[in-house]
Amino acid sequence: MTAKKSTGPDGDEAARVARARDALLAWYAQSARALPWRAEGTTAWATWVSEVMLQQTRVETVRPYFARFMERFPTPRHLAEAGEPEVLAQWAGLGYYRRARFLHAGAKAVCERFGGEVPRGVEALRGLPGVGDYTAGAVASIAFGERAPLVDGNVERVLTRLFAVGGDPRSGPVKKHLWALAAAFADHPDAGAVNQSLMELGATVCAPTSPRCLTCPVRSQCLAARAGEPERYPEKAAKKAPRDESWTALVGLHGGSAWLVPSATGRWEGMLVPVLVEGAVDAAALAGAHGGRAVTGHGEVLHVLTHARMRIAVYSAALDAPAARGALVPLDAPAGHGLPKVTLRVLAAVRSSGGAGPTQRR
Ligand code: SF4
Repeated sequence: MTAKKSTGPDGDEAARVARARDALLAWYAQSARALPWRAEGTTAWATWVSEVMLQQTRVETVRPYFARFMERFPTPRHLAEAGEPEVLAQWAGLGYYRRARFLHAGAKAVCERFGGEVPRGVEALRGLPGVGDYTAGAVASIAFGERAPLVDGNVERVLTRLFAVGGDPRSGPVKKHLWALAAAFADHPDAGAVNQSLMELGATVCAPTSPRCLTCPVRSQCLAARAGEPERYPEKAAKKAPRDESWTALVGLHGGSAWLVPSATGRWEGMLVPVLVEGAVDAAALAGAHGGRAVTGHGEVLHVLTHARMRIAVYSAALDAPAARGALVPLDAPAGHGLPKVTLRVLAAVRSSGGAGPTQRR
């Protein structure tokens, strides 16, 4: 099905926006989940941090990270003054580490340009590193009450269903239409609550599969539910299958510790990883290049990312003198060192074969 159109709401849509918004606000006042970043007296900084953490990540996963992060970095200045290794360590396990780097850069920009105060207004927010339309709309509306729209995955799903918007929602005209609908919703004195009610509905009622239409507060306005086909929307473009990739990992062992290096690839940039090389490379040569000897094979680890399935052949080698660039982490107790999951998996493979599996030289 093609998109109905690429412009904002017409008369009928505008009227349905108003009715759906009233119903959503009444429902949200009763049903909103109590979340730490919604607590009374929360700051714009807390809103910003929570919105960044919640991108691609579930609420229950974010809760403990948010609490720890805000305790350590209660203001943009606290984060701006921290070193990147500590910021990444606080983020370790949440994934998508670019978010942490952008938040760090954003906090520094807030200190340099706005005296440490999160600026008001979508335009000022959009000028900060890593702040896109969604985050700017969220902070402007939720923290400052500005009539700013936002569209995330939840809002996209709710709007495409409410208005039976066909076509790929990430394509230009459909995306424009959804933002126009979101702007019509947000044109309200309590835009922050309106935006949160749309997101909350998507998160708790209008689920990707088996939406709870029978108890939905906007059911009477919903074209997809009326047609009996809510799951038809959003009409996503065919998803690309994750790429299969082959990698080789080498862990240097030195006195019961694993020698790890700051990652040079964008996936874990700056975080501590084993020596990771794409392809099935000669492990003995790889070890030799890093001053290692007595190479041991530890089988294969599968690490699945959104776009790639990494098959990682794991090796260890004895290191007499670890290079200065890198860090030694106890092999038996790597938790608490802010390591990404891929590193923890590789170290677990080394541990599980006791660092003394059959030697596999290739
Ligand atoms: S009626 Fe169903 S499809 Fe429509 S918004 Fe509610 S939960 Fe989603």
